[in-house]
Amino acid sequence: MIDLLTDLLEQARKRGATAADAFVVEDQAFSAQVRLGRVDTVKHAREQHLALRVFVGRAVAAASTSDLSRDSVARLVDEAVSLARITAPDDLAGLPDGANLCQTIPDLDLCDPKGHDLAPEEKIELARRVEAAALESDPRITNSEGGDFGDRRARYTYASSGGFAGGYETSSFSLAVSPVATQNGEMQRDSWYHVTRKRARLDSPEDIGRIAAGRALRRPCRRVELHHLPTATTAAWEHSDEGIARQLRRAESIAAECAGADERFRAGLAAAEVDSVFPPRPGPACGWCDYRQLCPEGRAASAPRHPWDGLAGD
Ligand code: SF4
Repeated sequence: MIDLLTDLLEQARKRGATAADAFVVEDQAFSAQVRLGRVDTVKHAREQHLALRVFVGRAVAAASTSDLSRDSVARLVDEAVSLARITAPDDLAGLPDGANLCQTIPDLDLCDPKGHDLAPEEKIELARRVEAAALESDPRITNSEGGDFGDRRARYTYASSGGFAGGYETSSFSLAVSPVATQNGEMQRDSWYHVTRKRARLDSPEDIGRIAAGRALRRPCRRVELHHLPTATTAAWEHSDEGIARQLRRAESIAAECAGADERFRAGLAAAEVDSVFPPRPGPACGWCDYRQLCPEGRAASAPRHPWDGLAGD
C-alpha cells in the first residue's frame, strides 16, 4: 500500500499539487449474535478506503474512494486537484514540516494476527457461551437480548509529500451479553462486555455472563479493590449497607453543591465573583487534584502527587 500511496502523491504533484497526503484503511470485521441459544445474525465485512488531500498553494481539497484500481486512483487525483484549484486559499492550511515527521515507527504491539484464526463456528460458540452463562446464573434471568462476539482487524497506511510513509495494523475482540431479569412482575435489562486487542486477554464468556446477570439483577456491589501493580498487592474493602448509604449521601451532597454552583454561574457572575461559587479549600489532597493546574491556592498547598503516592512504600 505504501507504493500505491507514494505513486498517488507523485501523480498529484505532476498535476500541480504543491503538497499532498493520503491514507488507506483496509478493514475486516466479523460479528455474530446469538439469541436464546440460536444464531440471530452473522456479519462478515471487508472494506478498503483511500483518501487523498491535496494542497495547491494554500488552497486545500480532499477526495476519497473505495475503488483502488488504477483508473479510479487517477480520477481521484484529478478530482482532488481540480477541487483545490477552485477552493479559496486558507492561510493556515498546510502539512507539517518534513523535519517534524516521525522517521522510526515504534512497534506498539497493537495487533494479534493469530487471534483472528478462529473459525466462524468457534466465534459463534463464544457468543453462545456468554449468553448461556448469563441465563444459567440465576433463575430470575428469564430472557436475553443476545450474546455477541466480534473481531476486527485493520491496517492503516499513511504517506505525506513531507517525507513520511508508514502504517500499522490493529486488532480488537469483543464479547457482550444483555440478559433480562424478571422479579415481582417487573423486568430489568442490563448488559456487560469486554473489549481487548489480544484475544487471549478477553475475559471468559462465563465471567462476562455472570457479571451481566448480576447487573440486570441489581445485585449490590460491596467489595472495592485497589490493585497496586508494582507490588502486585491487592487492598480490598467490604462496604456495609450503612457505609454504602453514607457514601451515597456524600455523593448526593457534592452533586447538590455542584448543581447550585452551576446555577449561580449560569445566572451570570462577574469574573471576580467566580471563585466565590466554588471557593478553593486547599489541603494535602490538592497534590492529587485534577484541577491543580488551574488553582494557585492548591498548587501552593501541596506538591504534585502520583496516584499511588498514598500507598505504603515497598
Ligand atoms: S487544588 Fe484547588 S480545586 Fe483542587 S482540591 Fe485543592 S483547592 Fe480544591
